[in-house]
Amino acid sequence: DPVLVLEGIKKTYNQGKPNAVQVLDGISLSVARGEVVALVAPSGAGKSTLLHIAGLLDTPDAGKVRICGSEMVGLSDRKRTAVRRQDVGFIYQFHHLLPEFTALENVMLPQLANGIARAEAQTRACDLLVRVGVGPRADHRPAALSGGEQQRVAFCRALANEPRLLLADEPTGNLDPGTSEQVFGTLMELVRSTGMSALIATHNMELAARMDRVLRLDKGGLSAG
Ligand code: ADP
Ligand code: ADP
Repeated sequence: DPVLVLEGIKKTYNQGKPNAVQVLDGISLSVARGEVVALVAPSGAGKSTLLHIAGLLDTPDAGKVRICGSEMVGLSDRKRTAVRRQDVGFIYQFHHLLPEFTALENVMLPQLANGIARAEAQTRACDLLVRVGVGPRADHRPAALSGGEQQRVAFCRALANEPRLLLADEPTGNLDPGTSEQVFGTLMELVRSTGMSALIATHNMELAARMDRVLRLDKGGLSAG
């Protein structure tokens, strides 16, 4: 089974109102196990909407979402939340780390929420932070870290529960080009070393070209490219 399947996804905001915006008009895609797919779209084309639907943060007006073979549309909120916690990792353009917690604690928290024991969560968090080069700064709060370091910590947090699917929305979009290149390289190494599947939105064609496949989202539809 593919890790993610979307079939005929439609989404209109403000349906039935004068300010209705049709964003997705029957989107279908599939991400195979271990595959890393780039999602390229002009600003406002609906890539955040598509990622939120794929990650069960938003529901489509029509269409199917299947994660690891299980149908998600129509599941109870509780079951969707469980799938989101266990099987899906999110990375955003801005890290959304919790400012009052250290880097280490930020990576531990999703594991604790998922029922993992404290000692094991700490070991796994440390290991991840070392792998992305932030080990020596594990006890700092986000404000004391550089933008690139903050984003690396956000990667560790997203991968802490070993999700099968990673969804990333411009994961290095707020970094300067040199840092973006480096931090993206770290992300790809992490993803490849775990064998997870990923759908990664980016404006950067050079970064997109380093993934297995590129999908373009425009005017409500997808095309290969
Ligand atoms: P992208 O991530 O490609 O920039 P988005 O998915 O954020 O695009 O948004 C696509 C379109 O839908 C935009 O025109 C945006 O203004 C509109 N939109 C997004 N979220 C909402 C919302 N909650 N209510 C109304 N319109 C929205
Ligand atoms: P964007 O910058 O792409 O518009 P945000 O990162 O601000 O998106 O988040 C968009 C939506 O996703 C918001 O409704 C927010 O509440 C939700 N969201 C963000 N992060 C998480 C998360 N880790 N778990 C659950 N919902 C989240």
